[in-house]
Amino acid sequence: MSTQPFDTPPYGVPRTDPLGDPRTVAGSGPSANGEALLELESVSRVYGEEVEVYALRDVSLRILPGEFMSIVGPSGSGKSTMLGLLGVLDLPTAGTIRIAGQDVSTLDDTTRSKLRGESIGFVFQQFHLIPHLTALGNVETALLYRDIRPKDRRERAHEALSQLGLAARAHHRPVQMSGGEQQRVALARAIVTNPLMILADEPTGALDSANAAHVLEIFRSLESPQRAVVMVTHDPTVAETARRKVSMRDGRIVADELREDVPA
Ligand code: ADP
Ligand code: MG
Repeated sequence: MSTQPFDTPPYGVPRTDPLGDPRTVAGSGPSANGEALLELESVSRVYGEEVEVYALRDVSLRILPGEFMSIVGPSGSGKSTMLGLLGVLDLPTAGTIRIAGQDVSTLDDTTRSKLRGESIGFVFQQFHLIPHLTALGNVETALLYRDIRPKDRRERAHEALSQLGLAARAHHRPVQMSGGEQQRVALARAIVTNPLMILADEPTGALDSANAAHVLEIFRSLESPQRAVVMVTHDPTVAETARRKVSMRDGRIVADELREDVPA
């Protein structure tokens, strides 16, 4: 493990007080000078060798702090590929990805993992909770690699669960919870690090409409001027909640709209 304290990351992303209000932090990083939080420049992602599949084709996109964005498009249009690249889970075949101005391809694996762990919160359609851990244990996993005392880690995980109305579920395992509750645990895990970006892939896709509405409401409450929330969905009604809507088809962005009727 690196000895770098977690509040002074090497890539220049300003840290905020965990679970504190990011709005109260005086910015010295990307948001302070209007720089994009995340930037794709002519990015392509090709799968396969003999038969090449262009999952993404020459895509350019800038995401600013404070944006709440949906990515829509038919199945196979490249939405998940794009989200994986935005979250540094994957690297492009061609083009450049910058997070807070830093070209991610220049980072070594350790730094890249650190960047991911500290700056990005992920939420997936199928929750991806660890079955043998309690809700609390699952949320704590997001803080495990950090130099935090177990007691403080536990406290922060508790706070995140409480924030999402799950205090009473802290000691339950995923199998003992409803889908909506499991997704809220996954959300608590995503926000406990107070990330600069929240990336979600069909977060309401496995939920009934009441739970989907509740989870969407939580997503809206996670907006802040320093944070970007990006949500992949194929559900038009879910996309309607986002102010910016990016539409994809065949690995390309075919529309990028700002909806004036959705409050910023
Ligand atoms: P979406 O999330 O919009 O459904 P994906 O990003 O998952 O789309 O996929 C885009 C394209 O890339 C599809 O044609 C898909 O089959 C292909 N693809 C995705 N992941 C892989 C992979 N690991 N290997 C080969 N092809 C892939
Ligand atoms: Mg997908």
